[in-house]
Amino acid sequence: MAEPLLHNFIRRLLLSLVVLCSLALSQTKPSADLIITNAKIWTVDKSHPQAEALAVLRDRIVAVGTNTEVDAWHGPQTKILDAQGKLLLPGFNDAHVHFVDGGDHLQQVQLKDASSPQEFARRIGERAKTTPKGEWVTGGDWDEQKWSPPNLPTKELIDPVTANVPVWVNRYDGHESLANSVALQLAGITAKTPNPPGGEIIHDAQGNPTGVLRDAAQDLVAKVMPPMSHAHRMKAIHLALEHAASLGVTSVQDMNPAYEDVKAYSELQEQGLLTMRIYVAPLETGWKDQAKLGVRRGFGSDFLRMGAVKGYADGSLGSETAYFFDSYTDAPGKNGLLSDEMHPPSAMLQRLKAADAAGLQLCVHAIGDRAISMVLDMFEQIEKANGKHDRRWRIEHSQHLAAKDFARYTRLGVIASVQPYHAIDDGRWAESRIGPERIKRTYAFRTLLDNGVRLAFGTDWSVAPLSPAWSIYAAVTRATLDGKNNNGWVPEQKLTVIEAVEAYTMGSAYAEFQEKEKGSITPGKLADFVVLSDNIFKIPPAAIKDVKVEATFVGGKLVYGGLE
Ligand SMILES: [Zn+2]
Repeated sequence: MAEPLLHNFIRRLLLSLVVLCSLALSQTKPSADLIITNAKIWTVDKSHPQAEALAVLRDRIVAVGTNTEVDAWHGPQTKILDAQGKLLLPGFNDAHVHFVDGGDHLQQVQLKDASSPQEFARRIGERAKTTPKGEWVTGGDWDEQKWSPPNLPTKELIDPVTANVPVWVNRYDGHESLANSVALQLAGITAKTPNPPGGEIIHDAQGNPTGVLRDAAQDLVAKVMPPMSHAHRMKAIHLALEHAASLGVTSVQDMNPAYEDVKAYSELQEQGLLTMRIYVAPLETGWKDQAKLGVRRGFGSDFLRMGAVKGYADGSLGSETAYFFDSYTDAPGKNGLLSDEMHPPSAMLQRLKAADAAGLQLCVHAIGDRAISMVLDMFEQIEKANGKHDRRWRIEHSQHLAAKDFARYTRLGVIASVQPYHAIDDGRWAESRIGPERIKRTYAFRTLLDNGVRLAFGTDWSVAPLSPAWSIYAAVTRATLDGKNNNGWVPEQKLTVIEAVEAYTMGSAYAEFQEKEKGSITPGKLADFVVLSDNIFKIPPAAIKDVKVEATFVGGKLVYGGLE
């Protein structure tokens, strides 16, 4: 096309667009698909914190305000729902889950509340009886801290009730698992098997493996397990989606999923069956897979995004594998373990630096103060090499900080991706492990906020329950699960309900580069919100854990419960 002709064409095109737009405006002012009235809305939007109604058009919020203001969007097709004065919040965004694991755990043997070794063995025996040939008894989430004495379980405890069925059941924090003799045999583990780097095979007084494998040693058994079938995975995801919707969780950030999980999410998205939004952060050792396609932080659709990697720097406090500067109070000389990815740390640094240069977001698990410090050192070096920009590094768990490191979080813009439920769980025994000084900077949510650090809330499901009500309760009360700290364990670290809700919505949205799309009830954002049975800002904090979700909406669609 010659240039004058092209100009003419563009002018005509613009003119017809103007005509079309003014026609649309004069004739059909769009009306909302859905209006929620009579709600107590806490928007988590600082410019406009409270409202009583909202309107949804397709999958977005188009209006937030008084009943009268929002009624301007009322049209002949608009569905009106009355919230009857109940509290409406942005949907919860869990910044740290293991989603397929979580779904799978819903269908596995349940050991978390087994209150004695005998009960533990009984449940495993029951499950072994009904386990089809070729399959394993897995899962469990056992917690020997609930037993007296709190001794680790052994294969001798379960061998007599499991016959030829391989058993591989994990401690609830995922850092230790117990195998029976059949599973040990399949894995080829004997008294002579050496500890792999970053892992430990526990032995009895005679030098024989007890069946408990710690951290990286768990791979020895995990690698001989039959892979999860596609059907099994899909069932786990369906269960997980249902469970999430029932708790008001509308987004999750899935840490180190298998690639098959991502494939399954992608299939579900294609079929319109994802009832929740997922951001995936596969393991950092595979960073090249995303980088070679040019996938960068936050890449994808409203329902499924990627562009992050997850790494591990150390273990957990419960298994004394969190890596500390000073040794464990109850185990002098023991400082914890660096993860296998950190052998050596320079290799980890090299991968993280390259992943960062490729535009991938870094999420690194670090629990002990020394592991956290080492990760911060790496971030500093990466910033030096790759320059300063808005990259939102995350330290997953951020459990025990050295006093000097709060300011480094702030300076580097590191997000503390934390799980309040762990505080009331570990709070039962943490002091016996690390002493009275270090616990002051343990789950130090208040100090982090006071230092200007951004918090993102999550649960680490299936390590802890997926329930936001429990997590908010934990952050606000810090009342440990044993009922011994009703005024709060390290009470100076308590948060307000407002702060906890913000960390669970805007905080988590920011942590996945989505604060412009979700995290608050604001016109233009995705219509993800929940209606709760009780007003968590008004009821006694101790009652927050019992609050139920009445209705969960994702993209304006009801995915759980309902309003009259
Ligand atoms: Zn985790």
